[in-house]
Amino acid sequence: MINTVKIDLHLHTNKSDGTLSPSEIVKLSFTKGLKVIAITDHDTTNGIDEAYEAIAKYSEMTLIPGIELSVDIPGGEIHLLGYFINIYDKSFQKRIEEFRISRVNRAKSIVEKLNHLGLTISWDEVKEVGKDAAIGRPHIAQVLVNKKYIKYPKEAFDRYIGRLGPAYVDRPKLSAEKAIKILLDNGAVPVLAHPFFMFTKKDKFNISQIKKIITKLRSYGLMGIETYYGKHTPNEVSYLQNLCEELNIIPTGGSDFHNSGNPNEQKPGDVGPPMTTYTKLKEFHLNIKQKK
Ligand code: AMP
Ligand code: ZN
Ligand code: FE
Ligand code: FE
Repeated sequence: MINTVKIDLHLHTNKSDGTLSPSEIVKLSFTKGLKVIAITDHDTTNGIDEAYEAIAKYSEMTLIPGIELSVDIPGGEIHLLGYFINIYDKSFQKRIEEFRISRVNRAKSIVEKLNHLGLTISWDEVKEVGKDAAIGRPHIAQVLVNKKYIKYPKEAFDRYIGRLGPAYVDRPKLSAEKAIKILLDNGAVPVLAHPFFMFTKKDKFNISQIKKIITKLRSYGLMGIETYYGKHTPNEVSYLQNLCEELNIIPTGGSDFHNSGNPNEQKPGDVGPPMTTYTKLKEFHLNIKQKK
């Protein structure tokens, strides 16, 4: 079915924890009727070149090079999306390479913890699933599925490797202020991902905490909020629309598609922002570049 949504600004490939290649994501997005897509892999831009090559076949489609960074805030973790990333920025690439290395070390510690729990998987098996990707917990989850310990990857998070699970391991992450600065220095537009799915040590943040966090991020230079998101309720969407207006920033959105194999996963184009979002993102990006 062709969607009415024309933009999807949150897509993962197998260069991080998605399971489709960049070309496959582009092709699927085309069949869904999308006109503008952003590839936003975790801590890597290694899928961008292939995505550009693939999208060149579809003259009416546009690619925004993006990224998703994980960030520590007091009491939890948030995700930042960066749009119009300059992938040729050497110091930026060095930074994200460090994050990918820390992902490997952390995955090895998680494997050890799982072994102690009696789930016998190895780092080699994780590496075989992840291949050249930025390694993430979904790769570990997939190994657990392959070895029939669980049925769906999501179960691994619920039972073992979620923030409160017995095999959870943290990794060093940037502060929000630093991450936003790194994105702006690169020329990228910093956007808060899925604000109602920020991760705390205990539960989800409540609405007044969310507003406080966003206002703080705005003071560091945040330029958008991922408003249109599959798991946001209509009330949450309209709350964020109003907040974007109040703070004079851009409401963005997307499916956060990983092709994970979990039930009820949002597909490309199932959710996304209006076309005006694309125009505004471009404007904000040009403003950053002109200031540099
Ligand atoms: P990591 O980057 O290694 O911390 O893993 C985070 C990724 O795991 C997210 O981007 C999602 O793709 C996935 N994830 C996080 N929480 C869950 C969950 N509860 N169920 C399924 N996948 C999840
Ligand atoms: Zn992910
Ligand atoms: Fe995320
Ligand atoms: Fe994501």
